[in-house]
Amino acid sequence: MRLLIMGAPGAGKGTQAVGVAAHYRVPAISTGDIFRANVKNGTPLGKQVDAIMKAGNYVPDELTEEIVANRLSEPDARKGFLLDGFPRTMHQVDALDDYLDQHGTTLDAVIFLDVDAEMLIARLLKRAQTEGRADDNETTIRHRMDVYRDSTQPLLDAYAKRDLLVRVDGQGSVDEVASRIAAAVDAAVTR
Ligand code: AMP
Repeated sequence: MRLLIMGAPGAGKGTQAVGVAAHYRVPAISTGDIFRANVKNGTPLGKQVDAIMKAGNYVPDELTEEIVANRLSEPDARKGFLLDGFPRTMHQVDALDDYLDQHGTTLDAVIFLDVDAEMLIARLLKRAQTEGRADDNETTIRHRMDVYRDSTQPLLDAYAKRDLLVRVDGQGSVDEVASRIAAAVDAAVTR
């Protein structure tokens, strides 16, 4: 199973990615987690992306694409994966297509976690208090929403046109949303 999970900041991608990946026995690969781990460990990559992330901007495409290609080439991702937070731009969509083409594979489904805008801001402000993520303050949150709307939202149409998009209502408890995702993905890949 080769899956993507998409949604606005605060839609619950990271939380759901872990459960969905376990359900399909594939690794959950989060570019945000990879970047955060590098920042925490003070690696050269971490130093390069720290300020970009704090400002709520996107890491340059080429750099992000290289990191994803390397991660997808690891043995555990050969038979499948769930990408969380990638692709985020049309350039990244094309890069992922090229990578999959070269490896003779395709995506099975793109999960879109749909959550209304008011709820997103509320969730992010709550996460700011509980997790203390550096990019979860109100100014940055609003900026990340704008960046998402301008650069990432158009990807939903692109995947819908390819008949890959599986829209799931992201409101409700973690378990409710998880079972909705599994049901919707199973229905989409067996149709
Ligand atoms: P996330 O954990 O997915 O919300 O990502 C946190 C931050 O990491 C984003 O706001 C970006 O700064 C950076 N990031 C994660 N994934 C990508 C990506 N695919 N392209 C560019 N930047 C990314």
